[in-house]
Amino acid sequence: MADRPTRSVLVIGGGASGNAVTVLLRRAGIAVDLIEARPDWNATTGSGITLQGNALRVLRELGVWEQVEGSGYAFGSLGVTAPDGTVLFVAEDIQTGGEDLPATLGMQRPRLQQILIDAVRASGAGVRLGTTAESLEQDADGVSVRFSDGSEGRYDLVIGADGLNSATRAAIGITNKPEPTGMAIWRIAAPRPASVTRTDLAYGGTAYIAGYCPTSENTIYAYVVEACRDRASIDPAAYADEMRRMAQGYGGVWPEITEHITDPKKVNYTWFDRLLVEGSWHRGRVVLVGDAAHCCPPTVAQGAAMSLEDASVLAELLTGGRDWDDELLQAYHDRRIPRVRTVVEASVQIGRWQLDGVRDADIAGLVGRTMNLLKERP
Ligand SMILES: Cc1cc2nc3c(=O)[nH]c(=O)nc-3n(C[C@H](O)[C@H](O)[C@H](O)COP(=O)(O)OP(=O)(O)OC[C@H]3O[C@@H](n4cnc5c(N)ncnc54)[C@H](O)[C@@H]3O)c2cc1C
Repeated sequence: MADRPTRSVLVIGGGASGNAVTVLLRRAGIAVDLIEARPDWNATTGSGITLQGNALRVLRELGVWEQVEGSGYAFGSLGVTAPDGTVLFVAEDIQTGGEDLPATLGMQRPRLQQILIDAVRASGAGVRLGTTAESLEQDADGVSVRFSDGSEGRYDLVIGADGLNSATRAAIGITNKPEPTGMAIWRIAAPRPASVTRTDLAYGGTAYIAGYCPTSENTIYAYVVEACRDRASIDPAAYADEMRRMAQGYGGVWPEITEHITDPKKVNYTWFDRLLVEGSWHRGRVVLVGDAAHCCPPTVAQGAAMSLEDASVLAELLTGGRDWDDELLQAYHDRRIPRVRTVVEASVQIGRWQLDGVRDADIAGLVGRTMNLLKERP
């Protein structure tokens, strides 16, 4: 039997999901081009990210676990405090990635992105920054793509990994759009106070949640979650003042953190969104991964984990020797949707309880049930 010719894939978007699927497909000898809209590939932006075991499991599969472990800060429990900093209880985190990986690891976002960029570069994928797809035209055999620089390409498959406001999703006629959940988050990176060795969350006080996560030996990221406000009503020059005003309502290590909330350019303000494409995540030979198909507020810190798992499952199916047909792409959706739905619904529910002022909500119970389910392989 003649060898199958090398198959080709275009990945649109170089975030966690696009980078991950690129590395895994290249490892199987598939020709991959990756285009990324931002000329800097998002290598310098963002404060921190909380990665749970099931995200770390995919990072290990990508071959970058040692770099991640060496750069991040691993821990295994979560503290819940009163707004004054009094620790109310400490819960052991569930090891969703298996017993040989930490339950949780905090990282600086730019560091994680740089590790993934290096892995994509080393994989031999063709990378074009500052580039988008202007049009996707498909027939039974492939997809013809016209790029923003006027060039053209032809691929067996296109993977839309272009995030929450995915142009690929719209281009293939999936009309779902992200919806605000009613909450927003203020985030900043700061030096690590010596006593911060895990995430602590204070529910209530001047905001709904105030929390922090160590991201390396020397750094943390800290955040305050409140009801979302009209973005146009907040002057970006006042971002530090706004975050500091809320942070000042918290005790414990917060006074130490608050001293570093001074530069408005280093404070990030983001609304929480919810999106779940319930129907198929593909049309013909164009398929979505990550936030392009689903996103949730980070109340259980699982968005990037779900995106990485999408990449892993899709790559497993595409490299398993089967035809790249409708049935295979439907199998990808069928395998992902129950797990992703559970995470999206739990994440939204936790925020809803807070917005509605439900005092006896069983947040710990819901998080525990969700994490236990994620111990299963995706
Ligand atoms: C406030 C906040 C906190 C969060 N905290 C956590 C957390 O602690 N833990 C966790 O697991 N998850 C967290 N998440 C979720 C996580 O950030 C996302 O789920 C994850 O980044 C999704 O990865 P992605 O690759 O699918 O999309 P993205 O990371 O959004 O990447 C999409 C990429 O596509 C590029 N792009 C966009 N449009 C185009 C285009 N037309 N053409 C080419 N390129 C394009 C973008 O520049 C970007 O590089 C958080 C999310 C938010 C909003």
